[in-house]
Amino acid sequence: MSLTDDELKQLREKFEEEIAELEERLPSMKEHSKPVEPDNAIGRISRIEAIQEKEMSERGLREGVERLRVLKDQLEKMGTDRFGRCIVCRQPIAFGRLLFIPETERCVGCA
Ligand SMILES: [Zn+2]
Repeated sequence: MSLTDDELKQLREKFEEEIAELEERLPSMKEHSKPVEPDNAIGRISRIEAIQEKEMSERGLREGVERLRVLKDQLEKMGTDRFGRCIVCRQPIAFGRLLFIPETERCVGCA
């Protein structure tokens, strides 16, 4: 294990923060990715803008759901020797990389 207890603690906090943020954001993203009604013009938002927003929301939602899954998986692995190891080469992933890209499962060399 190449990470210190203090680094692990920081990472755990970071992961929990990211998970909480995603769980808070995802329900409203689901709301935005519902089908656009023909006369669904809220204020100055046109139908085209509503559709574009829906497409962006759908992509964001898919990415968000996937990110949440990986983050939870990572958090579960934390404390085991599988955590912080590259899924390709099995080498430890640098602390800084885990902190900035918490959902990463690969080291810099394999990314
Ligand atoms: Zn690697």
